[in-house]
Amino acid sequence: MSLQVLRRRELKPPLRTVRPKPDAHQTSFTNIEARAHRPAPLRFPVGVDTKAFYRRFWPNTSTVEWNDWRWQMRARIKNLAELSRIFRLSDDERTAVERHEGALPVGITPYYASLMSLTDAREPLRRTHIMTGDEYVRLPGEDDDPLGEDHDTVAPGLVHRYPDRVLFLTTGTCSTYCRYCTRARVVGNPGGEYQFSTRQWDQALAYLETHTEVRDVLLSGGDPLTLGDDKLDWLLGRLRAIKHIEFVRIGSKMPTVTPQRITKSLVAILKKHHPLWMSLHFTHPNELTPETTEATARLADAGIPLGSQTVLLKDINDSPAVMVPLMHGLLKRRVRPYYLYQCDPIRGSGHFRTPVSKGLEIIQALRGHTTGYATPIFAVDAPGGGGKIQLAPDPVVGRDGDDLLLRNFEGKVYRYPDPGGSLGSDKGA
Ligand SMILES: *Cc1c(COP(=O)(O)O)cnc(C)c1O
Repeated sequence: MSLQVLRRRELKPPLRTVRPKPDAHQTSFTNIEARAHRPAPLRFPVGVDTKAFYRRFWPNTSTVEWNDWRWQMRARIKNLAELSRIFRLSDDERTAVERHEGALPVGITPYYASLMSLTDAREPLRRTHIMTGDEYVRLPGEDDDPLGEDHDTVAPGLVHRYPDRVLFLTTGTCSTYCRYCTRARVVGNPGGEYQFSTRQWDQALAYLETHTEVRDVLLSGGDPLTLGDDKLDWLLGRLRAIKHIEFVRIGSKMPTVTPQRITKSLVAILKKHHPLWMSLHFTHPNELTPETTEATARLADAGIPLGSQTVLLKDINDSPAVMVPLMHGLLKRRVRPYYLYQCDPIRGSGHFRTPVSKGLEIIQALRGHTTGYATPIFAVDAPGGGGKIQLAPDPVVGRDGDDLLLRNFEGKVYRYPDPGGSLGSDKGA
């Protein structure tokens, strides 16, 4: 069945209740769940390899369940037994998982696991989600809170660093846990996952109501889309009711790791709260599946401008050969590359970090060589709370009298008439 046909069907109200077929293998639990709590599940594409994966490892799971984001959340791979059932773990991975305690547990949705190599521990997406011994190595300069967010926290979960905008950490839960997480200290806390309570949200909202200089609120976490539709609707409504807040954004990785979260009902809610923008976390072109294509299409069709953020990671995406197709793939999906981040010096992340020059090399390979929209901003988030600092290859070669000498994308030097200017004079010519 074509996607178009599926889409048209989804639009037809009222939706037919799709019940899992009576099936001897199905547990009564899932049947009851499907009937009692959910409206008609929405159809979603399933990639060919993903389908083979779930038939193999979740043979009793219907496509309807697989496409239900709550099922994906419940079925997450979270411990050594579950990992070993699916992956052929290396000794290093096994030991590292066994040794782990505290925050940032393993957590991988079955969908995202289906994109990983089951046998090769060096495969990029697998490396970003299954811990290795390197995580226990702490390098000089690494810290639990390298960005000094705790210092700039003005209410529970509210980081006010820049004059006119705030970062609002809405939850400690993500649907998957990236091993290089900047907020390793707050996500997936010991003994479960921490949810900021609505009482804490109230304190953050009270701050925002009185701080009229705040015009831009960035919802992050954890992943705000792990919140249920009602809670999200409530929070967005409260923010929208504050007159001086002009602009709300949501940062999320769910369209990438749990694209089934982007249901029609979620999109209908988000659409009510325009202007709403979203920043989506992407790492590698292997994430650009039919599922992600559908999720981004739904968001873009709802008029939500989409940006991307990518963390530069050693041997995962630190080459133009990986980054160029990723950026092009995002543009094709109406996602505008926004930030490429140098990996923050979070404790135990040294094996992921590249020299800062690597990011500049990648920007150099993009800028001018391909669509301008495909080039993100390369930024270092300054340790100690200095905020994001943009870096770009320096095109200023020097100065020759009234002429400024500039290097183009091919490395050729051009003269630009700039009488009376001084830019470049300290470089000679
Ligand atoms: C990244 C960030 C923002 C948003 O920065 P933009 O450059 O506007 O996207 C706001 N507050 C904090 C604390 C941040 O880290």
